[in-house]
Amino acid sequence: MKIATFIYQQQRCVGQVDPEAQKIGIFDISQSQAKNGAQYIIELLANGETLPEIRQSVALADVILEAPIIRPRRNIFCVGKNYLDHVKEVAKSGLGSGTTSSAAAPEYPIFFSKVPESVIGHQASILSHEGLTEQLDYEAELALIIGKQGRGISQEEALDYVWGYTIINDVSARDLQKRHQQWHLAKSLDSFCPMGPWLVSKDEINHQDTLVKCWVNGELRQNSSTSQFIFDISTIIATLSAGITLYPGDIIATGTPSGVGMGFSPPKFLKSGDVVTIEIDGIGKLENTVR
Ligand code: MG
Repeated sequence: MKIATFIYQQQRCVGQVDPEAQKIGIFDISQSQAKNGAQYIIELLANGETLPEIRQSVALADVILEAPIIRPRRNIFCVGKNYLDHVKEVAKSGLGSGTTSSAAAPEYPIFFSKVPESVIGHQASILSHEGLTEQLDYEAELALIIGKQGRGISQEEALDYVWGYTIINDVSARDLQKRHQQWHLAKSLDSFCPMGPWLVSKDEINHQDTLVKCWVNGELRQNSSTSQFIFDISTIIATLSAGITLYPGDIIATGTPSGVGMGFSPPKFLKSGDVVTIEIDGIGKLENTVR
């Protein structure tokens, strides 16, 4: 099941996508229920209720996709350095921050977060923030969506708490990340969290071996698989939830593989006009242009 949030005839809607038929079935919910997009559907299902009826089916070409969850209820949790090849390129670039600049795999998962207001949808513009950063970078990531409330979730039970997945671009200002010795500020600027194009339920994805690819202006930059994770999804959920309650609709980005702009010599940072396209197997493509 693929659930999208979109504008159709000037109204925000939530619906079920059929990519083969290029159609979206619009759920029969009110404007206030659709206000935060697919968050309403995730909460409905978490409460044991069934999906709303489909009111109308429309062509995918006739809608404007928005971020599937317009404004996450709290910060997006992110895992740093979860692919060994990326850990090595960060160390080599000299752009690692604080105590995390080592080339060794971290012993425990590293967490940081992005503010909810940084979220934008498919085709929305990534702001270049000229004058503030000169080292704008991309990070293709598989993000998981929590479907059930829990704390102290064991590794064995962890996947029961996953509703599904989406794509996130963990856009980063490398100069800010180095200057401020931490990732939160440098990764939370307005528009720094492209998300989409929609949510996909977990049954449609092999999370243990899903391809993650990223192109800039058509040039393939990142090409890896979640089989390369240092910490798998069960470990990430168990670690994060040990003392923090997770709620339906919470989003956890699982880290990026090698091939980010700062990993090249010389670095290939983003500039206005660049088009970043991320594709993850079983989800689709998330594309955004820098402005
Ligand atoms: Mg990242």
